[in-house]
Amino acid sequence: MFILSEGSNRTTGRDAQSSNITAGKAVAQAVRTTLGPRGMDKMLVSGAGDVVITNDGATILEEMDIEHPAAQMIVEVAQTQEDEVGDGTTTAAILSGQLLAEAEELLQQDVHATTIVEGYHEAARIAKETVEEHVVDAEVDEELLIKVATSSMTGKGTAGVTAEHLAQTVVDAVLGVDDDDEDAVTIETHVGASSADTELISGVILDDGPAHAAMPRSAEDAKIAVLDIPLEVRTGEIDVEYAVESVEELTKAMDSEAAELRGYAEVLEEAGVDIVVTTDDIDDRVVEHLTAADILAFEDVSDDEARRIIRASGARWVGAIGDLSDDDLGIVESVEVRRFGDDEFTFFEGGADAKSVTIFVRGGTENVVRELERVVRDSLDVVQTTRRTGTVVPGAGSTEIAMASAIREAAAGITGRRQLAVDAFADAIDSIPRTIAENSGEDPIDALVELRALHDETGRAGIVVEGGEITYVDPIERGVLDPAAVKLEAIESATEAATMIIRIDDVIAAS
Ligand code: ADP
Ligand code: MG
Repeated sequence: MFILSEGSNRTTGRDAQSSNITAGKAVAQAVRTTLGPRGMDKMLVSGAGDVVITNDGATILEEMDIEHPAAQMIVEVAQTQEDEVGDGTTTAAILSGQLLAEAEELLQQDVHATTIVEGYHEAARIAKETVEEHVVDAEVDEELLIKVATSSMTGKGTAGVTAEHLAQTVVDAVLGVDDDDEDAVTIETHVGASSADTELISGVILDDGPAHAAMPRSAEDAKIAVLDIPLEVRTGEIDVEYAVESVEELTKAMDSEAAELRGYAEVLEEAGVDIVVTTDDIDDRVVEHLTAADILAFEDVSDDEARRIIRASGARWVGAIGDLSDDDLGIVESVEVRRFGDDEFTFFEGGADAKSVTIFVRGGTENVVRELERVVRDSLDVVQTTRRTGTVVPGAGSTEIAMASAIREAAAGITGRRQLAVDAFADAIDSIPRTIAENSGEDPIDALVELRALHDETGRAGIVVEGGEITYVDPIERGVLDPAAVKLEAIESATEAATMIIRIDDVIAAS
């Protein structure tokens, strides 16, 4: 008897498990070589020929356009990691893959899937406890945030001076705004300078120049009005047709239009407005009047940009020009139109309540800028997370070695086959320091032996890569720190995805 539609495909039992596990492992394998300070980049070319060069796990997996449903779950792990904490995407993907690889071996030894899942959950709990125990007792000050920012950037093609400069820029940005406002820092990019020219603007950058070339190029202590209405002749809902019967009447109609348009400029001028920004259009004739009045005007500004200008300047949305009052106007210390090649950008700096800052990312080519933007964004997330949670743990594999060791210790006290699963979880976590070592050209087995010995001795053992040098050392001494939240999220989401895949023993696919 057939209960499935014709052409649908069903795989059950060990076959289903093994196909899902293989797919999951393959995804993790794909990002392995990018982990850590000596991680390599990947070049992804789309069907249309677009090129993305990146070291970021989430971006790689997203660009790879993965179809297999189980593999897709690992991609989701990386995405969740990116959304929740902004970093640790490669770590989370590798961990999921390794948890699956370990599970495959256990399944072959006839350990039941449920037992594996139980063991994994138990081990994940111990792992998370260990992370909490390893939180570094340090004040979350500028120095610490710089370390965290730098650690998140290592291996992203931002060596030496650039990394230092970028880390400082990111930390300055975060410290320049309220800590509970995650949207206060914006990233703007432009190709055509060295990455060292990346700068922090204490305000907002508009991706455009003024509405007319003859308008002022700069202003200081400027009053700013932000509108969400067009400065055009008002037209009704329905088209109105005038029956014009004489030249006088025509002139009169045109005059009244002209007066209305001139009126806009006059109201703004009388209110002492120096800059007007609207999310809508401005009629050319109004532009002329505004130019004559030395008012800088920007039209078709995006809602987001307008909102940021409002935030930086303390202005209020103006919905009708007639209602414009002094309270609606914001203040910016300086406005400057700058030209980069063919493009114009306008910098609004030092607002009344400068609650918005912008990192202006520069780089030599489109690809460099795109990757730098990802690096800066990750780093920004990491620094914001650290500032908010105030908890960091030693990086460079140290916390992983500690987790694995604690899990193995606990496993010794567990009876039955579940012990095998708990132990397997520890082996899976080892894949993080092992991969950092491997990618740095170290022998992975020797590295693990060395790290474990150092851990037993001191409790903190990382494989720190600096320039060409590899040292087995307490990462705190070298300032290699990761937010605790990144580790916790990676354990959480990798365990969830892996156990979900392990529990599946029947795949029914429609044709
Ligand atoms: P992810 O996408 O998981 O963040 P990364 O390529 O950014 O992957 O690598 C992160 C790992 O590299 C973390 O475990 C971090 O502690 C480690 N790391 C960062 N800087 C160093 C360093 N200088 N030496 C060794 N490991 C480092
Ligand atoms: Mg990272």
